[in-house]
Amino acid sequence: MTSPARRSGSRERHAVAWLPEEWRDCMAQWGEPTFRAQQIFQWIHKHGVLDVEQMTNLSRPLRARLREHGLQSPLCEESVRRSSDGTRKLLLRLSDGLAIECVLIPRANLEDSDLDDDEDELDADQPGLAGGPSERPVTLCISTQVGCAMGCVFCASGQAGLKRGLGAQEVVSQFILARRHLDEGERIKNIVFMGMGEPLHHYAETAQSIRLLTHPLGIGLSPRRITVSTVGLISGIQKLGEDFAGKIGLAISLHAPDGPTRSRIVPMNDSQPLAELIEALRRYPLPKRRRITIEYTLIDGVNDQVAHARQLAQTLRGLPVKVNLIPMNPIAASALRAPQAGAVEAFRRELALLRVSCSVRQTRGDDVDAACGQLALGSALRVQSSSE
Ligand code: SAH
Repeated sequence: MTSPARRSGSRERHAVAWLPEEWRDCMAQWGEPTFRAQQIFQWIHKHGVLDVEQMTNLSRPLRARLREHGLQSPLCEESVRRSSDGTRKLLLRLSDGLAIECVLIPRANLEDSDLDDDEDELDADQPGLAGGPSERPVTLCISTQVGCAMGCVFCASGQAGLKRGLGAQEVVSQFILARRHLDEGERIKNIVFMGMGEPLHHYAETAQSIRLLTHPLGIGLSPRRITVSTVGLISGIQKLGEDFAGKIGLAISLHAPDGPTRSRIVPMNDSQPLAELIEALRRYPLPKRRRITIEYTLIDGVNDQVAHARQLAQTLRGLPVKVNLIPMNPIAASALRAPQAGAVEAFRRELALLRVSCSVRQTRGDDVDAACGQLALGSALRVQSSSE
């Protein structure tokens, strides 16, 4: 299907990734009334309908034309695994046979410090999203690439390498399909770009997917309820800040307090030096009272000493941050180990003493391989042949 408005530059956009204005251009070209644009956009994004036949308020000839032009779901659901803690992991098959995963995480499983302090205020000024008192909030963790090119040595996706980036239609379809697996009374209230892949590596698609997820005619999520987690691609951080006026939450996978330690585990550090990254964080136009999350995967004997905690406090001085400590989940591709339990507590205590806001991330969904760094193990990175 050819996009009349080629906002993505050289590549054609899949129709599921079109904004209402792109649908309006298309309807004008087809000689259809303008209001059709809004109807189609709402079917896809508000109602999550990707099957043209179910778009019952469209005329039959228009439905046929949409189908002819290839409007259909860019991915299909292959399996859903449910953890004993309520976490659900969806395995989704892309049209080229590759696969990705996304994870629904009920809020009850999230420690409070994973959330923003001003969470309740966000609810207050977002009546449409606040829901009733009985509503149970869920966070959706989505993927942006099949595999990853960043090569972090402790991460399964990083060790598997990059197959390809996802189009915005594949990013937003994770939301559309995952929403179907909510339990009664649950609602997706936050989205974290923390699944497979580096969201700022394919910035244009990530930005388009944020525009789609936040569009008031569709899903209508508040930008403040979206967090992009990045290894620290400096120009991408800058663009995100400019394009969304600092409203998108930022999580930085720092993992080390100094350049040499970081380069050992995060190869990208060599081209995105730590000092410049910290400068980019200072310039991020964060709204008042919001903080940047610093993700710090603790690895036995590499970055988990009290001296590292002290140095980290120094490195982060003056920045509005909260540190999220993640005890490493061991992976087959690496001999690196999880930290000793005592090391995690000592690290946390030292940061607290130095008045750095800090929490330890609870492992969620590890019985279905949905914990950090465990996505896309096994079959997900392989193309499934038609005979399988
Ligand atoms: N590329 C992005 C988002 C994907 S990873 C980024 O780097 O932020 C999401 C988080 O999980 C990152 O902080 C990542 O470093 C962490 N992670 C990856 N593998 C892990 C593992 N084996 N154990 C613990 N955390 C891991």
